[in-house]
Order: sequence, then structure tokens, then C-alpha cells
Amino acid sequence: MNAETGQALRAVRNHEPSLWFRQQVQQVASNITAGDVHHCGHLALINQPVIAALWDPHLVVCEACEPLRLRLTGDADNACDRCGHIDPRGVYPGGVRFTRPGGQILVVLFGFCDTCARKEGINA
Ligand SMILES: [Zn+2]
Ligand SMILES: [Zn+2]
Repeated sequence: MNAETGQALRAVRNHEPSLWFRQQVQQVASNITAGDVHHCGHLALINQPVIAALWDPHLVVCEACEPLRLRLTGDADNACDRCGHIDPRGVYPGGVRFTRPGGQILVVLFGFCDTCARKEGINA
């Protein structure tokens, strides 16, 4: 994620997540199911997409709150969510959409360094 440069989130389409990525998403999903998450308070509507981020797997927000609650700054903003590498030029921000059983849309945001973006098959 790169809030400082105002880079828009790129939705990654037809992404086939790696085993690592699937495990992270599974963790976020089970945190939600277990109620082990903070949320913005607007997620009562089941047909509303739920936004989560790899850098904070215990926080879920609605689309309106995403720019306020899930943006990072400084080193945290430039840290890769996969390997932890801090790239002063920023990481590649993106989001992947999943449909949970029951039809709920879960969008998982991430920021990857060039190497990890390649490992995930994402063109950085
Ligand atoms: Zn909200
Ligand atoms: Zn990385």
C-alpha cells in the first residue's frame, strides 16, 4: 500500500494465489468467523464487501472506511507484507477479491516488493 503517493489500489484479476497467500486469506477468514477482529461498525449488511489487509489480519472495515482505517505511512507503508523487506520506493499495492461461503465478498489488500509480487504472479 502506498498512501503517500496516492497510488490507487489495483485490483488483481484472475490471480491464482500461492499457498502462502491462501493461508493468509484463510487466517483472515477464520479470524472473522471466530469474531477475533476489530471492525469499523458498518458491517452489519451481509451484502456489503468486507475489506481486510495482510498487514493487519485482525481488522476488517467497510469500503467507506478503508481509506481511513487501512492506510499506512512511513516504513510500515513501504514494507512488503510477504517478506518484510522495506523498499523506500514503496511496495506494489493490490487487492484480491474472494467470495466466502454464503456469498460474502472479502477483499484482501496487500503490498508486495517486486520479488514477492513476481512470486505471486503479479506484474509489478
Ligand atoms: Zn465502515
Ligand atoms: Zn517481499
